[in-house]
Amino acid sequence: MVREGRLGGVADSARGLVVGKFVLSTRDRRFRRLFGEANLRPPAGVPRITTVESVSLSRRPTRTTVGLTRYSRVRYFLVLSRPRQTITFYSSLLDALSDAAASAVIAHELAHAWLNEHVRPEESREREREADTLARKWGFGPELDALDREAETVRPD
Ligand SMILES: [Zn+2]
Repeated sequence: MVREGRLGGVADSARGLVVGKFVLSTRDRRFRRLFGEANLRPPAGVPRITTVESVSLSRRPTRTTVGLTRYSRVRYFLVLSRPRQTITFYSSLLDALSDAAASAVIAHELAHAWLNEHVRPEESREREREADTLARKWGFGPELDALDREAETVRPD
């Protein structure tokens, strides 16, 4: 379960796919519920994601992007820092989707974060398909179908 720390903003997830402390920078109740539920859905045997440092719901208007996962790893002299990932969702488009379709967007971004951490970081058309395939494997098939029906142009990146 993703719960908010007393100071607000910091979530500490002991169970679920994304584990550990990360910044959950929104108080939007529907989003927090959907993210918390989606985070618990992948089967127990799936290796956990430990590199997410923030999950946010941005109010910045976007035309087509409803979700975006960024992977970064900084080099200090010869030493590579620990990888870090940020997942951003955009409320202008996410709010227009049903719970099921919004969950599909969340699952798709979680699949990106998982592939970045456990396979390799990559952005490609092939990776987009891979993320959907992984989300379906985690049980999000009906949600992805709902997203396809509701949003022909809106796709999570
Ligand atoms: Zn994508």
